[in-house]
Parts: sequence; C-alpha cells; structure tokens
Amino acid sequence: MAEDDQRLLKLQDTEESSQDEEDYAQFKENQSSPSCWSRTKRWTKKHPIATKISIVSFIIVAAVVIGIAVGEAARKNESKDSSDAIVKPETDRRSYRVVTLSNELRALLISDPETDYGAAALTVNVGTMSDPPDVLGLAHFCEHMLFLGTKKYPGEDDYAGYLSENGGYDNAFTAQEVTNYHFKIEWGALSGALDRFSQFFISPLFTASSAGREMNAVASEHGKNINNDQWRLWQMIKTVSNPKSPFHKFSTGNIETLNVSGIHDRLLEFHAAHYSANQMQLVVLGRHDLHDLENWITKYFSLIPNTNAEAPRFSVQPFPSDYAAKRVWIELLSDGHLLQLRWSLSPSDAIGDYLGSFLGDEGPGSIISVLRGRKWATKLSAGSEVSTRLFLLYTISITLTDDGLANADEIVRYVFRYVNLMKANVVDKSLWDERILVDDINFRYKSYSDPDRYVTSIASTMQAVVDPAGFLLAPSLRVYDADRLREALSVLTPENLVLFIASSSNSRTGSWPDLDQTEKWYGTKYHYESIPNNLLKLWNDVNDPNGLSLPTRNRFIPTNFTLLPEPSSQAAAESPQLMPPGKTPFSSLWWKHDAEFRLPRMNLYFSFTTPLTYRDPFHSAMAYLYEYVMKNLLYEPLYSATLASFTYSVDMTYTGFTVKLSGYSDEVIMSNFVRDVFTRFANLGRLNTTSLDNLGRYDLSLDQLKLYYANYPTSQQPYLTAYDYSNVVLEKIRWPVLEGEKTLGNITKEAFIAFAKDILSTASVTCLAHGNVNKVQALGYVRLVESILKDELRSSPPVVPPPQRLQIPANSSYILRMKGLDPANVNSAIRVVYQIGQACFSAKRQPVCSSEKLRLTVLLALLELKIKNPCFDQLRTKEQLGYIVACRTHRFENVLSFQVIIQSATYDADYLRRRSDAFVDSFMTTIESLGRSETEYRQLEQSAIDQLTARRISLQEASDAYWDEITSGENLFNRSAQIAASIRNGIDRTGPGDLVDFYRNYVASGGQQRRRLVVELYGAGRRFPVVDPPGSIVLTTSDVAEFKHTAKAYEHP
Ligand SMILES: [Zn+2]
Repeated sequence: MAEDDQRLLKLQDTEESSQDEEDYAQFKENQSSPSCWSRTKRWTKKHPIATKISIVSFIIVAAVVIGIAVGEAARKNESKDSSDAIVKPETDRRSYRVVTLSNELRALLISDPETDYGAAALTVNVGTMSDPPDVLGLAHFCEHMLFLGTKKYPGEDDYAGYLSENGGYDNAFTAQEVTNYHFKIEWGALSGALDRFSQFFISPLFTASSAGREMNAVASEHGKNINNDQWRLWQMIKTVSNPKSPFHKFSTGNIETLNVSGIHDRLLEFHAAHYSANQMQLVVLGRHDLHDLENWITKYFSLIPNTNAEAPRFSVQPFPSDYAAKRVWIELLSDGHLLQLRWSLSPSDAIGDYLGSFLGDEGPGSIISVLRGRKWATKLSAGSEVSTRLFLLYTISITLTDDGLANADEIVRYVFRYVNLMKANVVDKSLWDERILVDDINFRYKSYSDPDRYVTSIASTMQAVVDPAGFLLAPSLRVYDADRLREALSVLTPENLVLFIASSSNSRTGSWPDLDQTEKWYGTKYHYESIPNNLLKLWNDVNDPNGLSLPTRNRFIPTNFTLLPEPSSQAAAESPQLMPPGKTPFSSLWWKHDAEFRLPRMNLYFSFTTPLTYRDPFHSAMAYLYEYVMKNLLYEPLYSATLASFTYSVDMTYTGFTVKLSGYSDEVIMSNFVRDVFTRFANLGRLNTTSLDNLGRYDLSLDQLKLYYANYPTSQQPYLTAYDYSNVVLEKIRWPVLEGEKTLGNITKEAFIAFAKDILSTASVTCLAHGNVNKVQALGYVRLVESILKDELRSSPPVVPPPQRLQIPANSSYILRMKGLDPANVNSAIRVVYQIGQACFSAKRQPVCSSEKLRLTVLLALLELKIKNPCFDQLRTKEQLGYIVACRTHRFENVLSFQVIIQSATYDADYLRRRSDAFVDSFMTTIESLGRSETEYRQLEQSAIDQLTARRISLQEASDAYWDEITSGENLFNRSAQIAASIRNGIDRTGPGDLVDFYRNYVASGGQQRRRLVVELYGAGRRFPVVDPPGSIVLTTSDVAEFKHTAKAYEHP
C-alpha cells in the first residue's frame, strides 16, 4: 500500500492544507484496500460530507496477458509511432507506442515534448489474493521490501535519494490482484531513474536485516488503520466471505503474520514465483522521443528474468449462495449509522459504472432523493467496490439518520423497487445513449493529469485490457448491450444480498441482536445471520415504485466546444487581470483567458469575505451549518450537471466562504449552471421560519453538524490535530474546532435565518474567471450572479481585518503539550515548526521582495530538496518511529516555515521530539559538507530551478494557484518563476556558505534566528514528561491565550 505518503506530502499552502494532506494520504491508502471508496468521495474539504461516489478505476477485468512476441527483428519494422493503435482524447498532443520486449514484458511509451516530469509505473500481476494462507500480508510486505536496495544500487536510500534530488518521488500499492510501483522525476533524470527502478525487478537485495526492520513499518501501517471504521468494515466484508475464497484473507499483514520462521525464504520464494517479466506491464512517460524511450526500456527492462510464470488463477467465489442472503450487524467506533448492500457480480467494470450512474443518482426520483425527503438518509454512494477477474463486488452504501436506522428494512425495499424500475426499462436505449454521449465528451476533452497518476492508472488497466485501443479508454461501455445489463440486474436480488447494518454503541437505537462475535484482526464486534424469510418476501414485493423514477433528460450536456481565438495582448496571456472598479458593482473580478491548456472549459471562483464567520466559535459553527444546508440544497438539482463534468464546491473558510464552479465553456449551459447554484444562495438569504421548514433541509443539516463534531476526535489523525493546534497557537484569532461544539445549544432556526441573511449582507465578493472565457463573458457571468444576489449584497460591506500570523521570538523554543483528542487512540504525534520569515508578495502589480526575503525563500527551497529524503530514511526506515514521517517547507499567510512531522504508535511525543532534534542537529554535518562543494550547491540550485519552472498540468491546477494568490491578498501570480529567475541570475546572491549559515542560524539548536514551536500530542496511555527540556518554554493548552496576548504579529502584505 501506500508506501510513503510522506515522501510525497506536497502540500498546497492554503488554509485547507491539513485536509489536502489527508486527502492525499487517503488517496494513496485507498488504492490498496477499502479501496476506491473515499478516493471518489474526497471532494469536500473540511468535513466529510460526501457528494457522489462514482466509480473505481484501478480495475482488472478479463486478464488475458497479450502475447505479441516482438523480438529485436520484429521491432525494426515496428519502429514507427504506433499512436494510431491507441484511442486518445482529441486534446491529447502526446505520442504513444506499444512495445513488447524479448522477455515478454509489455510497455506503453508516451512521449510528451512539453512535459517537465518523467514518470513510470510497473504493475506485476500478483496481489494480496495470492498471499499464502500461513503468511498473510506477504504480497504487501514484498512490495515494501523492493524499496530497500538492489545489487546494483545497494543503499536503502539509493533509489529514493536519486528521485528526491531530482525533484521526484515514488510510491507503490498492493491491490487484490496487482502490485503497482511508480515514480515521478524531472524529465532530464528519467533515464537514471529507470535504471534504478528496473533493478527492483532484476536483483533486489532482500537483506534479512532490512526485512526484520521493515515488518515494523508494515505493522505501524496496520496500527494506523486499526481504529479506522473504513478499514474495519473492509475486513468485515472479507470475514463474512467464503473462507475458501482468496478474497477472504487479511491482507495488510502485521507482526503476528509476518514475524514467522523462514520469512526471509518465503519472501524470496514469493518473488521468484510471481515477479516474472511476462507478468509485468510498464508505462513510461517522458520528454524524449519514442525512439529514446524505447532504447532505454530495452536496455534496462529486458534484463528482468522471464520465468514464464503463469498468471494466478482463482476459482472459488467469495459469496456463493451459502454466503448470500445474509445480514451482519456491526459495531462502529464513530457515531452514525451505515447501511450497506453488496452483491457479487461477474466482472465488468463498465457495467458497474453504468449501474452506479443510476443507483447513485441524486436527482429527483432517485433513491437518495426519496430517502432524504423522508429524512431517513443523508447520502448514498453506489459503485464497484472491488473488481477482480473472478468477481466484481457491487456496493450501495447509505448513511442513515436515527429515523433511517429504525426504517432500515423499508430503505432496503426502496433499493429493490428502484432495481425493479431499472429492469423494466432495460430496453430504453435513450438512457444508455445519453450516458455514452457524456462519457464520450468527457473523454474527448480530458485534461492532463499528473504524470505519476496517469502512468499509474494506465499500468493497472493494462493488466486487464488486451487491445491497446482500450488502454486510455477503459473502463467505459461504448456500446449499448441490453443483455449484459439484464444479466447484471438479475443478480441484484434479496437472495444474493449481503447486508451490513452498522452503528456505534453510543448512537444505535431500536432492538439490536447481541453482537456475539469479534473479528480477528481489528476486533470489530458483530452478529451474523441469515436474512429472515419475511424480509426476503417483503423485498421481493416491489411493484409499486412509491415515488421513485428513473432520471429524465440531462439538461447540462454541452454542445458548443468552440475555442476562443488566442488572447491578443501579451498582458492577458501572463497573469489574471483585475477589472476596473465599477464594471461589476458588488465584486472585484480577476479574469484570465487561458492560452496554455486550450480546452473548452472554464473555472469560475467566488470568495465571500465577511467578519461574521470568525467572530467567535458560535458563528463558525453557524457557518458550518450554512455549508451543510447549502450542500443539501444543491445535491438534487445539480446532480445531472456533475455527470456532465460541471462541478461545484461550497466551503466555509476562516473569513467567509468560497464557491468554486467548473465546467464546459458552452455559454448557455454554464449560465444555467451558475444561475442554478446562486439562486439557492439568494433563497437562503430571504428565509423566514415557514420557508425554512419548507426547505426541509435544516434538521438534517443540524444533525450532520452534531455528528461532525461528535466524530471529530476519532476522525482526525493525530498529526493533523497537531497541525491544527500549531495554527491555534500561531494565529491571532483562532480557536480549536471543538469549541464550536460547545455552542450548539445556542443554535436556533431564528439565529440561522439571521445568519443566512447577514453572511451575504456583510460579504465583499472577489471572483476569478479563468479558462476559455473572454472579458465580456467573464463580466457577464459575474453580473449574472450580482443580479441574482442584488437584494442580499451591499455595495460597501464592512472591512474584514486580515488574519494575523504571530511571530515566535528569535532564539526561542516553545513546546505545546497536549493530550490526543481521542482518549482511545494510542498514536502520538509531533509537529515541529521553525519560522523562517515572510514570503514575497505583490502590491500595485509590483513584486515586493526585499533581497533578504528572496534569499531566505531560496535557501529554504534548497534545504527542503536536500533534507527531505535523509529525514525519511533516518526517522522512518532506520529508526522506525512510525508510518508518518516528513520534513517539508510550508507557506501559510505569507509566513514561511520548515516543519518536521512524525506520528507514532510506538513512542511518545517527547521521544519523537528528541529524535527529531537529534536528526536535525546531526544534519548540520551534511549541510557543512555541501557548504564545501560549489559544484554540488549549483546542482542543487539547478534542481530547484527545474522544479520552480515546471509547467502546471491542468487548467484546474493553474486556477487554484491564481486563487491562492488572490484570496491571500499576495497576488504574486508568477511567484515560482520569480524565485527561479532570482536563482538563475544570482540576484539572491547565495552560495554554499549561506546555506550553512542559514541552517545554523534558523534551524539547528542554539541558532540566533531560531523561532521554534513544537506541538507534542500524547496518545492514550502516555504521560507528559516530568522534566522539561532545557531551553524551551513549555505551554499547555490553557497557556495559549497568554502566549497569543504577548506575541508580536507579522505584518500583513
Ligand atoms: Zn504499505
């Protein structure tokens, strides 16, 4: 699994960063197991209100590994670009070639002359389903072990160190049937990385000593998951499946399963049996042409032995009839209730996707719409949860309210009613055609994604798809196939159902059976039984649709994909322009016509800034409630828009809220979309008690808010709590999230109505229009929003004081000691913050960047490049402190810092801080040796320049970067380019000696400019140390106010 979320922690420097960090970690995690679920649900930022689930993409369908035996001779004929074999998006400018090496390894080469990064992914056709029954977790353990040295490059850090010094990173995950290894690196260093990477599969060292240590990393990985309900539920599915099926086994591994005699030999055997070239699929993306890429992979990857291994074959189904028609009652750790329906279908991802687009529909007449109307459920997701060659696990997961839990049987009946409707309409080809049309449009105008994610996903697809034509397309059902659909629907019966009802001991109501069993690996309590006959009968009696109906025509399908002519003025091409005041009476509008990505798409962002939301914890709780209500109002009318790739988000921030809209630039459809969203805001601003009741979303939303607070302590990873508290300390006005919970008693309908009015009337509005949109259109959209909100907005709203970042005094160190929020969580964590200084910003269109600021910015960037990997190698790989370890830089509200992050189930926070200090101080030697080498220093600079000047991948990424600059008020749109230029032209005037001075002064112990805050979070069973470390001022949470009172604030840009 997610090898190393941490090496990657590449955070955005926004207020959401802790969430981004988690999203990212989740993304990595979920590729392995409770797979794909939250991967597709991870849209909302602050708290887990999910929008829709769509479907899984790491999938294996019918796996016949292709056998084009193209040897040396054959390849000569084939050396022409075989892009024609690949079906690619209209907007894709890259060229592709499929090659099969002499050892039968199949590769897809992608040449992209514009890319700044190279990337590669290799999948091996083996996963956790092949674990031997007596060494559970072996496939996953083997994945970890490949990273720890090869014969040619024996150091444990040789591979990762090379990547990191060249601006790259790596990761891997083990899924049911596939293990995926991947990396990304600056394009010029790709060949060297391919050399190192290929050695994983040619001659891994697998030393006994690293095996002994690395099983601890696997164990901490399991330790991190053990109190996570998603992982617990995932294991429950396995537990209630047929024990003879390969899916049944516990797959992460822990000390008990891995620390067995002969483990080293077993590892070698496993590797020898499965890691054969004929079972591997490789994808390489680079800036070089196809000829060079082919030469490299031939040189490096042809050396992988081909033992003619056979693909693992499985035949025992996980849910045959003896294991279906079952109901499982499960205890959750978090409050709330879940109802999950599962069926095992024959493998076909396209069918899974198609079913999901109906069962997961949120529009009028959908299952969730009816359930929300009855106040029984808040959300529903539907899709393939597991997809293998043997079976596809199709899942509908519904989050219930208390009332919903009491009516669970009726809810299941609604699902079967809907399935019945679908069965009756299988022959309605128009529904199908519309889905195909939307799929087709989205494929034609697909944005580029990060090279690493791109190759990773294709390499998994290639294990399943024989015909290269399908490499980029899958999974998508392009042809109407009533028979397959009918067959899949025929499986969705009560007799084939495996039903989970899950709730915490705190929150469950009604009569529950005694939870008489305990799951072995996670300790989950449950009761397992056959579904009673009377229920089977009830669920088969579904002829009356009872308010349900299939979706109607989607009115958000765009038809105009015309690209506007290239922008004429140079200025318009460079950075967003601020429209003169008065053009849009209520708002400031930034606009940029995109000349870079040239897609018929656009983004329209709005920030509503108000002093209201950060007045006090009560108002911030109200702001969250407002967000819930708004989201609950938008789901239903806008679901069909999201199917057509129009997306929206509404997020509360510390100083108001943001609305981000994104979609095709077809003016008619985009205007409808904008109107549909903002009409709901206007309506909320005009509420009275009757209309609030008529909306029918208030009670539901208030329940969601209560649940959010109730689950906050268990849902937050300790290292993220430490991050939140570092902001509580360093922000002039900021309080812990849970302060809001204490004010819940003051929330009334009247107060909400007043708040919903005030939040608009006190707001000043800032917008960004970016993409295939000209100035007139941009003004048009903003005027449209203003006309909808004209009675709610004020033209001169109150001025919002900017957030103030506090400065830790020079040459001082503060330690905040706190207990973890969840008394049952054994993990401790630290976050060490070294404040460096203020970043550059822009005022009146000119960069404000003193030479000192510039110098510090550059030195910090170089330090990050140098230290990231040794930090991981020492604190995680060697010392095994815990699974989460990172050293990185951070920019937040114009203040730069260097941070060390560690989370551990094994050690307490005091120990973690001492190890972090020992590492940071010992790293002085490395910095000093760098200080003696002009050449090495200049190389490091070049690497920094390459990273800073890398192009953005997508319109979205560019819009988000502009937006960060706009909402922070820093407005330095070409920040990275400016810093790169200053290094290149020597404006910052730094040399090797400066980095030494910088590190000694700002980071190492005793530094005159060291401004340090450590948040130490102690897990369950850990006590604060009796003796305080010398030279530090120790605070507890009750001392924070005093510190904030006396600390000086940084100047706001
Ligand atoms: Zn792992």
